Amino acid sequence: MSDATFACKKSHSEPGPGDAGKTGSWRVLRPIINVNLCIPAKTNKMACFNCWLYCPDGVVTRTIPPTINYEYCKGCEICAEECPVAAIQMVEETKLIKKEK
Ligand code: SF4
Ligand code: SF4
Repeated sequence: MSDATFACKKSHSEPGPGDAGKTGSWRVLRPIINVNLCIPAKTNKMACFNCWLYCPDGVVTRTIPPTINYEYCKGCEICAEECPVAAIQMVEETKLIKKEK
């Protein structure tokens, strides 16, 4: 099987509205990526991406740096637990909302 054929058959999910709508409104804790610690952001290499791989909602991009779609991120904290360098901090939404006002 050629690489091109394999690429077409890879599973790939995109965040989008399901039966529950924009699930980001459920979030109590918001994951924030520290680009000074994140491996691909620091090295400019397509490395790690555990956050992308393990996010159950497919809301993390496999880009440099990785980004999170907060419209659908439920704040489950799996990305933070799977990050090998503790680059993802979970911050209380209430504190962030106060700062953003
Ligand atoms: S798991 Fe951590 S180090 Fe790896 S890409 Fe995600 S934020 Fe960066
Ligand atoms: S907190 Fe959960 S849903 Fe949000 S980006 Fe991390 S793993 Fe995905």
